[in-house]
Amino acid sequence: MPIPKIHPESRGQRHSLLIHCLQALLSLTILIAALLAHRAHAIETVHFTGDKVSLLPLLEFVSERNGETLDEILVRPEEDWHHRQNINNNLGQTSQPVWARVRLAGVSEAFGQPIVRLNYPHHDYVDFYLFERGRMIRHFSAGDQLPFDSRPIDQRTFWFPLDDASADEQEIYIRISTPGPLLMPLDLMSYKEAAEEEKLLYLWAGAFLGIIAIMALYNLFLYFSLTESSYILYVLYLLSAGVMQATMFGFGEQYFWGDRPGVNNQVIAFLAPFVQLTAMAFVLKFIDLKNFGSVLDRSVAYLMLFTLIVMSIASFTVPYSLIVKLGHSIALFGVVCALYIGIKGWVMGMKSARLFTIAWFAHLVFIGWYLLDMTGKIPATELGNHAFAIGFIAELSLLSIAFADKMNQEKELRINSQTKLLDMQVAMNQELDNKVKERTSALEKANRRLEELSVTDGLTKLFNRRYFDQVFRDHYEQSYKDQHPISVMMVDIDFFKKLNDNYGHAFGDLCLVRAAQLIRKVVTMPGAFAARYGGEEFVVVLPKTTEERAAQVGEILRSAFEKTTVTQGNQSKNMTISIGVACTIPSQPGLEEKLLSVADACLYQSKENGRNQVTRSEQLDEAG
Ligand code: GH3
Ligand code: MG
Ligand code: MG
Repeated sequence: MPIPKIHPESRGQRHSLLIHCLQALLSLTILIAALLAHRAHAIETVHFTGDKVSLLPLLEFVSERNGETLDEILVRPEEDWHHRQNINNNLGQTSQPVWARVRLAGVSEAFGQPIVRLNYPHHDYVDFYLFERGRMIRHFSAGDQLPFDSRPIDQRTFWFPLDDASADEQEIYIRISTPGPLLMPLDLMSYKEAAEEEKLLYLWAGAFLGIIAIMALYNLFLYFSLTESSYILYVLYLLSAGVMQATMFGFGEQYFWGDRPGVNNQVIAFLAPFVQLTAMAFVLKFIDLKNFGSVLDRSVAYLMLFTLIVMSIASFTVPYSLIVKLGHSIALFGVVCALYIGIKGWVMGMKSARLFTIAWFAHLVFIGWYLLDMTGKIPATELGNHAFAIGFIAELSLLSIAFADKMNQEKELRINSQTKLLDMQVAMNQELDNKVKERTSALEKANRRLEELSVTDGLTKLFNRRYFDQVFRDHYEQSYKDQHPISVMMVDIDFFKKLNDNYGHAFGDLCLVRAAQLIRKVVTMPGAFAARYGGEEFVVVLPKTTEERAAQVGEILRSAFEKTTVTQGNQSKNMTISIGVACTIPSQPGLEEKLLSVADACLYQSKENGRNQVTRSEQLDEAG
């Protein structure tokens, strides 16, 4: 039945005056009765005294049928209108537009510019009708599918002014058509109070978004200095969540895309899964699921990631209402997933997973609180309305601590391994150093030995023939330069072959060693040196020595041999030697061979003359 005040109907009939009067009286009685009856059950009245009144508990709703106009809604029977079933703020998602009505009293006398505020910014179409004495005096159209300018008051939520009200009572009819959740936080309040509330909200939202911006910036710097990909994922998560929150506050519509209807829905549809996607990607990277999780964990996690990617892309084509429906369940599943991964990491002994899990759990608790508040399962509070944001900030703060903790641990690990590496390197270097030193000293020893070997004779330890040739040449040249005499003495043991034959080769060797010792003992003049010339033959060079003096040395040596007995076991033998001495003051360098051959000729002469004697070149000349 229509509301009589709005659509009064009257019909008259002309019969007799009495009948007419009676009928009129009856009609009036019925009308009054109907009116009284109607007033008892029908449209509720709210009395405004200047303080904020929540209209929601008194609202009556009706669902619009296809193509129904305002006039048709107004004549819908009373029984079609009904109150909400619970204290739920959220009427859920409806495919049909919803109408709500309520009667206001006291508005015309109220101070402070009374308004009706629909404190939710995301409805597609909101139509507000104000009736006074059955006549529509105002109609406003707003919604995020219409340009922002079409709103009667420039605010992020929908504010409808009632300043035209002049009668004691007005009726308001509100039509909402939206694919998203149908929230109806409808208040009757003064403009002044609404503005105060808005100021507080801006303060709150500014702090909230500011914290997110600072954290994003901070982590971006960390990313640039550490180039660790979990930071950039965290930054992406922060930014997308920040933009999502700003959009949910209604700032996007108010400041950025208010003149482009439809963008708001698209942004929400895209960001809802995208925020989850960045969160999930970050969690997987942070917890390092690759190394921690089982195959099942990874499969679920990557399936989840894949779903979220598909949803983000699909948001551009799939209807908004479907995305929102899917988004809610996916979001809950995603947060639970992340919580599970955190607990898993914790159980597996990953230290930074602990704080992470607590952070994520806090997030979940606040989401739960927010959902309970939003769905009216618990009494709505101001804090509850912002539980989502509080949870988010709590989560971010804890995550930052977890992040710092992880960074610290990794730094410690890095430093530890660096020190270990350094120690190892130092030890290795030390070892290498020692080895090189060892090798070098061994090499030096070997070189020395080799050098010695190459210049000495193994048996007698006198210089060898090779060395003699070299040094003799030098001495000869020096003598030439200084024009000093240089003497050379060839020494050969007599009948050594026989000695070998009679006493054995070993005894022969011993005799050679003793012979060398004797030569060394006698030839002590500075610059003089002796060498084994070959077999049982020795050569002695005496620089700055006359032939006479050399012959004297030769004689001393000959007599020393004669007197010396070589003994080994029961064998003993006295050796004799024959000596040839030659001397010259070189007339030119390089004639040393000649001097040597003269000495050799002298030696031969000694042998010829009966051995055990010294022959000088002087004597040779005499003999020759
Ligand atoms: P002469 O008085 O004419 O010098 O007679 P000799 O036997 O000493 O001379 P000969 O040149 O005929 O023999 C030299 C011998 O010296 C031959 C060789 O067996 C011996 N001999 C050479 N080198 C070594 C050696 O290193 N050790 C030993 N035990 N004998 C050697
Ligand atoms: Mg000999
Ligand atoms: Mg010989």
